[in-house]
Amino acid sequence: MSDHPAHAPTDVLVIASWNADLVCRVPRPLARGETLAAHAFEISSGGKGSNAAVAAARQGARTAVLARIGDDDFGRMALQLWTDEGIDHRLVEIAAGERSGIAQILVYDDGDNSIAVAAGAGLGLGAQQVQAAAGPLAACRVLLASNEVPAAATETAFAAARALPAASRPLTVLNPAPARALPDTLLAACDLLTPNESEVRVLAGLGEDAPVEQAAQRLLDRGCAAVVVTLGADGCLLLRPDRPPRHWAGHRVPAVVDTVGAGDTFNGALCAALARGQALEDALTLANAAASLSVQGRGALGGMPDRPTAERWLH
Ligand code: ADP
Repeated sequence: MSDHPAHAPTDVLVIASWNADLVCRVPRPLARGETLAAHAFEISSGGKGSNAAVAAARQGARTAVLARIGDDDFGRMALQLWTDEGIDHRLVEIAAGERSGIAQILVYDDGDNSIAVAAGAGLGLGAQQVQAAAGPLAACRVLLASNEVPAAATETAFAAARALPAASRPLTVLNPAPARALPDTLLAACDLLTPNESEVRVLAGLGEDAPVEQAAQRLLDRGCAAVVVTLGADGCLLLRPDRPPRHWAGHRVPAVVDTVGAGDTFNGALCAALARGQALEDALTLANAAASLSVQGRGALGGMPDRPTAERWLH
């Protein structure tokens, strides 16, 4: 249990995935049946939802996660991370007898990688667990989910948010990663959708050469209120119905260490800024800066900035 006071309001509630990243650094891809000595092995916390929650908390947002983990050592690692980062984890279900999610990652000398994910207990995050959190869900300012959690959990949460009175309901933000088909009902329940370039094309059912603006427009036509496409080193693009697209240029960084978690940092920082009442344009300026800082550190969490660091980088 976290030590958050029972009545502390939540700024950002993340319907979150968590997994242990088990990373082996090996010279090259393995042939079938081959055994190869690794240079190094490390275990770190991963999962898009959990990463974004850390990013939001480091930006000063009172952040909570709604997640499902196993009652194993990896699950305890997740709880320790959330405690260390000041993230409220009272809505996390610890599934008796189940294993926490893991990602088995091979990183090759040329920087490429292969990943196998076993979502474990996270697969059991369903509508019931979300419904049981109706009170905290109604009380948060921003609700964030990604496609790493089961569709039923996100759909239930976003529908519940949309059913609240307009003046007091949370903003709904969906990071549709990894890309999967989204029903129109879910798109219509999104205040903001934050795909990257390849995801927006897949979601729109377009080929890899299709213009990003065209793909985003299709999602707006299906009922989504706003689409932010993240463009890697090229920054991000905001598209809203009946307004010209607006582009934020990418920040030039001295050296890219790795881009793991860049999108998660972007989403977490964006939600933190929106939760403190910043206009969408200003929140995107911060998210773009925070994500460009994250690529200068190792792993998903290594480069994730706190708020003073992100604001110094902006000025
Ligand atoms: P994802 O990690 O989800 O694929 P992107 O690669 O689009 O998402 O990156 C998300 C954000 O991270 C970008 O919008 C940008 O703000 C920042 N970013 C990513 N790569 C770089 C880079 N090489 N230089 C500066 N900023 C970057």
